[in-house]
Amino acid sequence: MGDCVFCKIADHTISGSVVYEDDQVMAFRDLNPCTPVHLLIIPKNHISGIQEISEADGALISKIILVAKQLAKEFSIDEGGYRIVVNSGPDAGQSVAHLHFHLLGGQRMGWPPI
Ligand code: 5GP
Ligand code: ZN
Repeated sequence: MGDCVFCKIADHTISGSVVYEDDQVMAFRDLNPCTPVHLLIIPKNHISGIQEISEADGALISKIILVAKQLAKEFSIDEGGYRIVVNSGPDAGQSVAHLHFHLLGGQRMGWPPI
């Protein structure tokens, strides 16, 4: 995907603040963090969002959740608690059309989100 910023981070064309990488998944710090810990976890291959996930992506999605769990421990937010968020579509405020899971923590967060 030629102009996708997260594809460019995934293939190291542009530098992100990478905190995790394997052959399928990458995690990096959000450019504009909302919370003391704010990471983005993405599949390296381009999937535009939740709407494009299929059954074939099941193992990939569970891998991403397990990476989030591991990073929560590494960043010491596992005991205090954290939130995993996927914004999907305009009403949710999705601004980058490459599937990404926000991992948010390090402070008490409000609910509901509106
Ligand atoms: P969304 O609003 O689509 O759920 O989340 C997109 C997130 O990507 C935002 O929190 C935004 O700060 C982050 N972001 C956008 N462009 C970049 C970038 O080039 N590098 C990094 N690290 N984060 C980005
Ligand atoms: Zn992409």
